[in-house]
Amino acid sequence: CGIVGYIGRRDAAPLLLEGLQRLEYRGYDSAGIALGAQSGKGGKGAKSGALRTAKAVGRVRDLEARLPKRFAGTTGIAHSRWATHGAPNDENAHPHLDGEGKVAVVHNGIIDNASELRAKLLADGVEFRSETDTEVLAHLIGRDPSETLEEKVRGALRMIDGTYGIAVLHAGFPDRIVAARNGSPVVLGIGEKEMFVSSDVAALVSHTRQVVTLDDGEMATLKADDYRTYTTEGSRTSASPTTVEWEV
Ligand code: GLU
Repeated sequence: CGIVGYIGRRDAAPLLLEGLQRLEYRGYDSAGIALGAQSGKGGKGAKSGALRTAKAVGRVRDLEARLPKRFAGTTGIAHSRWATHGAPNDENAHPHLDGEGKVAVVHNGIIDNASELRAKLLADGVEFRSETDTEVLAHLIGRDPSETLEEKVRGALRMIDGTYGIAVLHAGFPDRIVAARNGSPVVLGIGEKEMFVSSDVAALVSHTRQVVTLDDGEMATLKADDYRTYTTEGSRTSASPTTVEWEV
């Protein structure tokens, strides 16, 4: 239903909660947040830590009440869910993780071949924590042998049929968020040394009016001070931001 992501220099969790609140008008049954691995000083060569998540059935304020005391980090993704596969409960709330907890995915839409893919993954020994179609995607990304996060996501997307707007974190790539769109809206918000991603400009406009709307079949990599867009086949697309007019 609703996606919000942030990468920059500010504390992500309050920004993500605020974004989710701005999407409440759309309706939802549960919500959740994943924070990226803390990339230490120097960013690039820094050791990658673990992703941290919090989820709650109910309202955004129920999620807020459940956040661990120390839940700081400058990169994160969040979701408000409108259940299509699996009951509204804590386990089925997004973000969904792969088996090792390295990959976190938030997803809007429906994966049509989720039950076939799930059966295959189960036969391979993968353990599922939820009943959602989305969890399949987290495992596929986590198991993809490609070197870059973009290729891992691309490899996973090639295997699924259906609609998606997604945002992905990976503990091994703490400097980025990867997003993709097919039939479910994804917009990027371009800030000053910070980037946002959402399913809806309403979650971005209090921070930036510079927006890039992804097309179907398009992906994006967001870093704190840089972004690029490309097709799911990997060729670059031009993505000059447009300025959105918005009455607050
Ligand atoms: N199909 C996914 C689920 O049931 C995503 C639903 C949504 O768009 O919120 O978890």
